[in-house]
Amino acid sequence: MKVYKFGGASVRNADGVRNLHKIIGDEQHLFVIVSAMGKTTNALERVFGAMQRADRAAAAEEIAALRDYHAAIVADLWHGPVRLERVETLFAELERTAAEAVFRAEDAELWYDRIVAYGELLSTTIVSEYLNHAGLRNRWIDMRRCFLTEQRHKDAAVDIEASTPLLRSAVAGADATVFVGQGFIGAAPDGTTTTLGREGSDYSAAVAAHILDAESMAVWKDVDGVLNADPKIFSDAVKIAELNYLDTIELAYSGAQIIHPKTIKPLQNKNIPLYVRPFGDKRKPGTVIRAVSAPVDVPILILKRDQVLLTIRSRDFSFVLEEKFGSIFSLLERFRIKTNLIHNSAVNLSLCVDDSWHIDEAIAALREAGFDVMKSGDMELLTIRGYTDELWRRYARGPQVFVRQATQSTVRVVRRRG
Ligand code: ASP
Ligand code: MG
Repeated sequence: MKVYKFGGASVRNADGVRNLHKIIGDEQHLFVIVSAMGKTTNALERVFGAMQRADRAAAAEEIAALRDYHAAIVADLWHGPVRLERVETLFAELERTAAEAVFRAEDAELWYDRIVAYGELLSTTIVSEYLNHAGLRNRWIDMRRCFLTEQRHKDAAVDIEASTPLLRSAVAGADATVFVGQGFIGAAPDGTTTTLGREGSDYSAAVAAHILDAESMAVWKDVDGVLNADPKIFSDAVKIAELNYLDTIELAYSGAQIIHPKTIKPLQNKNIPLYVRPFGDKRKPGTVIRAVSAPVDVPILILKRDQVLLTIRSRDFSFVLEEKFGSIFSLLERFRIKTNLIHNSAVNLSLCVDDSWHIDEAIAALREAGFDVMKSGDMELLTIRGYTDELWRRYARGPQVFVRQATQSTVRVVRRRG
């Protein structure tokens, strides 16, 4: 079995879906993971936001726009307007949920997952039906029945052991050898839908590859492979031909948007190679990520946006802040704040963290626990691996730099957004 993953950008329109068909070609024994089409997840987040504000009209309007968007793709694929029963059912459910939900603030994340999961349910339904229509027999897999996650919403991890028999039996004895399943979603032990964190479809594909003992996994993207920098931010980015698992985790953690950080572990555990390949040209080799690779010979620049810098000091001025590390980090963990850089002195702890829903609650709790906390928003974290003097001069200096950490090869800079 191989696993292919197609992201939202690859299936954002009918041409993308036709191209997916072309890429699958006559491949057999294939598990295909698909994300929501285009920017659907963002739109569903707005539906959720409207529900949260009890603005039913706004929710209905967003859903109507999504209905039109998906209908246009279907009409283009089938060369005329058709009603796909299963797509209609999904929209009817979504509309009903948005209109009738009795929203309680403490259930926000439960509702979030329930709503945003429709993106992948819709995309996979359309892709699977289209492939069947085009003569490529396949089976649609409901990943809510195959991925049992922890009882946690919005950023759940898959319980691989418990999911193994579920996914294996879903593909066993099927009359097809090509399977189409949703990225990003699963279900908790209480049966409610969970999501695996934004951009979590890569992780879904990796877990599926792990469980199915896949020979390889490929992520089809709108770039030539893994680049040494985001071409939208740094000009003259170049492709890296080979990477190892460890470097890839470092890159993903630093914010490189190649692959979701959780993706590597399930693959590494079973030594499954990961190919990052250009969606537009099947002949190009892309990048291969595996246990051992040739060393990377270009500097790598990674910019992580939406950061907040917290400067924490204990109010009694106790000098050995280390003693307090345990309580600070367990508090941050409670609010699921992701820490990306840690810098400490005798009395100060500076943390560069992802901006999130819960940041202000976390700060309030830290203050309650006896710390002074200063928050600077609008930050970004730049990591340069293999920096040169020139890159140092250009990026690691200047008044906008708040924190700088360097080793022989890597420099990380927290700076005010430029
Ligand atoms: N559709 C989800 C998102 O946009 C998951 C994914 O694309 O990987 O975050
Ligand atoms: Mg997406």
